Amino acid sequence: MIDQDFLKLGEAGVQRSFEDGEVVFRKGDASGEMYLIVSGTVELKFEGDRDDKTIGSGEYFGELSFVVGRNFRSASAVAGSKLEMIALDQTAFDRLMVSQTDLLFKLVRRSCAYLLESEQELIEDLRQRNTQLQDTLNNLRHTKAELDFQEIQAQTDEMTGLYNRRALNTQLDKYMKRHHLSGRQLGVLMVDLDGFKLINDTYGHHVGDEVLILVAEILKKAVREDDFPCRQGGDEFVLLLPDTTDRNGRAIAERIRKAIEALPPIPADAKHKASGSLGGTLLRENETRESFLERADRYLYQAKDSGRNLVVWEGGTL
Ligand code: GH3
Ligand code: MG
Repeated sequence: MIDQDFLKLGEAGVQRSFEDGEVVFRKGDASGEMYLIVSGTVELKFEGDRDDKTIGSGEYFGELSFVVGRNFRSASAVAGSKLEMIALDQTAFDRLMVSQTDLLFKLVRRSCAYLLESEQELIEDLRQRNTQLQDTLNNLRHTKAELDFQEIQAQTDEMTGLYNRRALNTQLDKYMKRHHLSGRQLGVLMVDLDGFKLINDTYGHHVGDEVLILVAEILKKAVREDDFPCRQGGDEFVLLLPDTTDRNGRAIAERIRKAIEALPPIPADAKHKASGSLGGTLLRENETRESFLERADRYLYQAKDSGRNLVVWEGGTL
């Protein structure tokens, strides 16, 4: 806008003065006037919708209400210093535009440019927010994956990949609850390797580790999808067997015993070979988890006492 146009507009309005910090209008106010700044500055505050802007002498604002019929303020206008302005109301504006059509054209052009610029800023802002949201989402996904991984790690026996004692502690209650709800029998099987110390002492700890890993593989193969195999610690393993009959439990136990017995000696010429003793039982009515596990443990030691490489299921040797 050139000075000439500013003067033409100025002639049609009335003089207004504002003190530094004084509010000309607030965002959302009904709009009925446009302003030309004679001296001083005005701060246009968009309150987060877009960046604030300071305009000064020779510039004008608030014309959108006349040009595009917007009837509320999209920003607050506050005097940034002592301010002299000329205000034009609708009547003054209309009168001027009838006689000065070229001025109207320039105003419309400026308003369109302003609206386009606002739209571009908005699109850019949305694009940036979208990128930020994507980043946040990716971070959240990453954190969740990390937490899931840590959770799995915390419940897994590192060497064998079976669940660990901590997982057994949390899962046993769930399995017992499921048993109470379904009415199906829950079995537990305890496995302890025989003379494992001797294997360690004779062939080295690494051979012992190898045996533990092979036994873990046997357990993984022996279980069904809903069963829960874990390494309780040392050479001791526990299996939870949901939906298991007496016959089924015995069969699984015996299959595991035979598979451990059938493991090849390590090293190939080793005199001491792995075998395992097993104790198994079914959960009884109104029984606590402690008494359930304690009974299986007792049967396991009964198997040890009866000569090892044996299964004792519900007190009876198989
Ligand atoms: P028993 O027939 O009475 O069970 O005799 P055992 O020699 O197997 O004795 P026990 O079950 O009490 O000993 C378990 C041994 O397992 C003791 C420990 O040195 C060994 N052990 C525990 N954790 C590990 C491990 O991660 N790797 C290896 N190689 N050995 C382990
Ligand atoms: Mg043992």
